[in-house]
Amino acid sequence: MPPGAVQRVPHLPDQSGVAVPANAKVVIVGAGLVGCAVAQHLAELGWTDITVVDQGPLFTTGGSSSHAPGLVFQTNPSQMMTRLASYTIEHFSGLEHDEGPCFLPAGSIEVAATPERLEWLKLRHGLASSWGVDSNLLNPQQVSERIPLVDSAKVLGGLHVPSDGIAKAVRAVEAMASRASKQGVRFRGDTTVTGIAVDEARVRGVEGSGGFIEADLVVSCAGMWGPLIGRMVGMRIPLLPVQHQYVRTSALNELADESQEITHPILRHQDSALYFRQLQNCYGVGSYQHSPLPVQPETILSPADAPLMPSLMPFTEDDFKQAWADAIELVPALAETSWEDSLNGLFSFTPDGLPLIGESRAVRGFWVAEAVWVTHSAGVGKVTAQWIADGTPGMDLRECDIYRFEPFATSPSYVDARGRTQYDEVYDVIHPMQPLAEPRPLRVSPFYRRQQELGASFLEFSGWERPQWYYANEPLSEGRDVPAPGEWAARFWSPMVGGEHLVTRERVAMFDMTSLKRAEVRGRGALGFLQRLCTSDLDRRPGYVTYTLMLDAHAGIRSDITVARLAHDRFQLGLNGPRDIDWLERHAADDGSVVITDITSGTCCIGLWGPDARKVVQSASQDSFSHEDFGFFRAKDVFIEEVPVVALRLSYVGELGWELYTSADLGLRLWDLLWRAGRPFGIIAAGRGAFAGMRLEKGYRSWGLDMWTEHDPYEAGLGFAVKEDKAEFLGAPVLRARKEEGPRRKLCCLTIDDKTVVMGKEPVFSNGEAVGFVTSGAYGYSVGHSIAYAWLPVELAGLGSKVDIEYFAQRHTATVSEEPLFDPEMKRMRSAE
Ligand SMILES: Cc1cc2nc3c(=O)[nH]c(=O)nc-3n(C[C@H](O)[C@H](O)[C@H](O)COP(=O)(O)OP(=O)(O)OC[C@H]3O[C@@H](n4cnc5c(N)ncnc54)[C@H](O)[C@@H]3O)c2cc1C
Repeated sequence: MPPGAVQRVPHLPDQSGVAVPANAKVVIVGAGLVGCAVAQHLAELGWTDITVVDQGPLFTTGGSSSHAPGLVFQTNPSQMMTRLASYTIEHFSGLEHDEGPCFLPAGSIEVAATPERLEWLKLRHGLASSWGVDSNLLNPQQVSERIPLVDSAKVLGGLHVPSDGIAKAVRAVEAMASRASKQGVRFRGDTTVTGIAVDEARVRGVEGSGGFIEADLVVSCAGMWGPLIGRMVGMRIPLLPVQHQYVRTSALNELADESQEITHPILRHQDSALYFRQLQNCYGVGSYQHSPLPVQPETILSPADAPLMPSLMPFTEDDFKQAWADAIELVPALAETSWEDSLNGLFSFTPDGLPLIGESRAVRGFWVAEAVWVTHSAGVGKVTAQWIADGTPGMDLRECDIYRFEPFATSPSYVDARGRTQYDEVYDVIHPMQPLAEPRPLRVSPFYRRQQELGASFLEFSGWERPQWYYANEPLSEGRDVPAPGEWAARFWSPMVGGEHLVTRERVAMFDMTSLKRAEVRGRGALGFLQRLCTSDLDRRPGYVTYTLMLDAHAGIRSDITVARLAHDRFQLGLNGPRDIDWLERHAADDGSVVITDITSGTCCIGLWGPDARKVVQSASQDSFSHEDFGFFRAKDVFIEEVPVVALRLSYVGELGWELYTSADLGLRLWDLLWRAGRPFGIIAAGRGAFAGMRLEKGYRSWGLDMWTEHDPYEAGLGFAVKEDKAEFLGAPVLRARKEEGPRRKLCCLTIDDKTVVMGKEPVFSNGEAVGFVTSGAYGYSVGHSIAYAWLPVELAGLGSKVDIEYFAQRHTATVSEEPLFDPEMKRMRSAE
């Protein structure tokens, strides 16, 4: 604290819907697109004391926003990213600037030069429909009708999105700053932040070249400098600045008479990692073709030392040569041009390519909104401002929450490896199940060696090596009805998936469930704490397991979890990921009454499931696993021979069985003991492929895929997990109101009439209108149906209702079916045999 500064402990947001007083002092670091968007939105939410500081001159600060060509393509596999982009377009379209509009709605075309890309474009067409963006598939002639410079002989087709276009980045920065200024926001250029004052784990102000500025909240919108600002409060910001080259050509004869800035749609030629935009009578061409050229944030020059701008590096012509040759091939008229201008700019890539948004848990009041493209900038500004002001962002941000990463993913070497890959693959055809190439193997369960011996085909999840199927099981599918899905869905599939699925239902299988996030919550306040966060009554005797939900303040499903009460003051929680730990930590009192421990890495889990599961486990244990002694949804401390195990009688695949947890050191022994005990019963190891189809047959939702904070429990078919007469829990008042209003949409179980297997995110149509989208899809080998779960409007959610799912531009009729499709009476899981 500087001398004379006032010590205040403001009421800061706790991310649970608690509003922050709008007179809190806010300092935003960075006056690029994101900083100005946050400032404008926060000011328009009524916040009165905001200062935006930037090390560079206002408003061409020298950051990435100062030279971005501003192409905005909305279509993205992530619904969240598409919505952030659509909002950015809407927002920029409404901004005013003396020099002209801030958004130019030229439309966009992505072209396909290979059959594989053409198929990919069909999927992207579907994604656009799923997320509410109009698009059309074009043949080559239609591509060149819209962009006459494109050689139609070089393309097989295109995807046209009429509402895409060009963001005028600097204009938008200035226009947003101007609107913010009118609301009283102060902007200070040439002011470098050098430190952040923290006291009692709360932000107090920023130190910098302009002196000390008192602050209750600091919002770091420093783009690729983010890691340096994060370091000031001890927070790791996992992003990597990478160089990216772009040229502007001399005038093209074909555009000699052009008076407008842009009449051609913006263009992507992803097969050659290129993009193009018209700039009156010239063209701009950008390339992601060369190998990634990362830069460490600390080596970026200051505005005073940079020859042009800190975010510009020397252009390296050799890295652009092949790209230019490829550009000419698609747009032959470019051959007559030279480069009027060439730039090598820097911007940020994260391990998963998505932005970083959220508040530090360790230093309250320190917020981050970084690794954001122009495309999503105003959207990110809006949700960040709303999150700060209301405690919830108004949109599900699970994919860009700063706490989505495991600790390893914030290490410099991981960020470097993954950041490079993200750059490299930015335009690649990426299958939704495609595992990372490196760094692998990163996290392995204690069973890894045995899994390798059984010929596991591993995919990667959150760093874990997870068997998808086992080649040792090859004979299992022989002679069975295991239809192969189409080429795309079959890329990470094998007939063994079907064999493992069916044998689990007939006999017994071991599933490695180690990657399931879990925590122990203990302490005298543990029960009360969990009661306040969860929708079910957890005040049950030790030994009971409860499936329950954590809601946010708006009654959206923040997570679905299992809570096993192991002792009076000790609970084991099955969670969905690191964000759940973050959520728990944020809500726990800091008086020591509750201790939350992430026990995932120190423990492991085998799901032992199938009709013979009891016989197997009983033959390896002296504890009783009978139905009378070990009922459904009960937990016990037992021994499997000498291995101490926490056993939970539940199953995500809908079979009799147990989740068996032990410490990592004894995991291999546990595997071997169960394997030996299971031999007489024909035990197999089964992978995630089988798991996926079995869970859908049982209608078990997967948080993050099937539902998230935008859905309430009733819409998601999880009303059974809400105890309505229980004392207040987070989200309860809003939930009551939402129940009263009735659901507007429903998560429905569909069976696809022609048995096409879909993968999730496909649009659903009714009478030719896009009405919803698929969340999960798989083949149910036990029920003989291709299953898809999808969000549909209530009026289409009735049993027997017919809709069409679009997959690779073909419509497939699907029927809303009664769920679960398999064992609706739960006889198998509750079996006493
Ligand atoms: C060549 C190129 C082409 C691109 N093309 C596109 C495109 O077509 N479409 C698209 O969507 N995106 C594009 N991008 C990406 C896009 O430009 C950026 O992701 C975006 O502008 C980032 O905005 P920002 O506000 O987060 O960061 P910035 O604009 O970099 O703003 C961060 C600000 O923080 C300030 N700052 C940093 N440290 C401090 C400190 N210690 N004290 C005070 N101030 C500080 C900086 O001076 C800077 O002004 C492109 C990027 C490049 C380089």
